[in-house]
Amino acid sequence: MKFSTKAIHTGQNPDKKTGAIIPPIYMTSTYVQEAPAQHKGYDYTRSRNPNFTNIETTLAALEDGKFATVFSSGLGGLSGILSMLKSGDTVVGTADMYGGSYRLINRVFINYGILFKSINTQKLKEVEATLKEKPDLIFLETPTNPLLKISDIKAITDLAKKYGVLSVVDNTFATPYFQNPLNLGADMVLHSTTKFISGHSDVIGGVVITNNADIKEKLDFARMAIGLNPSPFDVWLGSRGIKTLAVRMERHGKNAMTLARFLEKHPKVKKVYYPGLESHPNHDVARQQMRGYSGIVSVEFDFNLEDTKKLISKFKYFSLAESLGGVESLVDHPASMTHASIPKEEREKTGLTDGLVRFSVGIEDYEDLQNDIEQAIALLS
Ligand code: PLP
Repeated sequence: MKFSTKAIHTGQNPDKKTGAIIPPIYMTSTYVQEAPAQHKGYDYTRSRNPNFTNIETTLAALEDGKFATVFSSGLGGLSGILSMLKSGDTVVGTADMYGGSYRLINRVFINYGILFKSINTQKLKEVEATLKEKPDLIFLETPTNPLLKISDIKAITDLAKKYGVLSVVDNTFATPYFQNPLNLGADMVLHSTTKFISGHSDVIGGVVITNNADIKEKLDFARMAIGLNPSPFDVWLGSRGIKTLAVRMERHGKNAMTLARFLEKHPKVKKVYYPGLESHPNHDVARQQMRGYSGIVSVEFDFNLEDTKKLISKFKYFSLAESLGGVESLVDHPASMTHASIPKEEREKTGLTDGLVRFSVGIEDYEDLQNDIEQAIALLS
């Protein structure tokens, strides 16, 4: 079965009892038992719920994985993963990642003795030298948020296996439509389903997908024991959104690529970050491991910081907001919004300047999006 058919038919079965083509929302906290501990597979929604089972079946299939566990958010999923570690364990991570992931590791899990080392995962020699020291987990985000850096998943997970290190890839930006890290050797794939997967800016959710039954059991335990479960309603909305994932991603990718090419030539633009551009430093690796480059484009304009901030408040269709991956276009100023939790020196080491602007390119008509950016630049010039 191919991608779109899986998205529409796997884990998306009609309701057996009534024939309703859309499964109901099982908005229940508990389940009636026939006798103590005798139930139909569900006992309490913090552990499991039929809507969780449905979306997990769909998402595992889309990532070509065996098992999935849904969480309350992307960070809920990362908390589930990190809770498998113990005091004294070390996590190695991409030096440019979503600010909230950085904050979770460096301001929460650090208090429980989890150590963190950030490395340049574009440099395989640096990766190997670090993995030789046998950390416990390597966490890659590729493409990264917000600089769209690409790490070579196959090369790095081969090294991780060689040195016995567990590997996780945050695949939120690419989505399973454009990239499948498990097939390239990752042990776990993390998504913030808040983003492209649900796709309509109305859900907060996360998922971890794996082929390893032992890991699946630990993730389910973490969800139940810590209370990292999503709401059945959010999960149901996610299942609904997934049905159009393929068509949305095609359009996000096309609009973003056209916008990146347009901005690259614009006299008021200093730099464009988009893995689909030949000028992107890791374009070759991106071409090898991705089937498309998704909908996020980051840009440095040729304006000072004050004017850049004015510019991004003047768009009509790119709403100034955190988050990304919805059908509507958004614009973000990472240094003061999504990545403000990373210290400025750390941000600047990875190239995240105060002038950087991140566009989440929606699925509106492309001409309207380009005109919107042009009219805002004209107001400032
Ligand atoms: N991973 C990436 C790449 C993200 O961009 C985000 C949120 O922006 C997250 C994880 C966290 O997801 P959530 O906001 O659903 O907790």
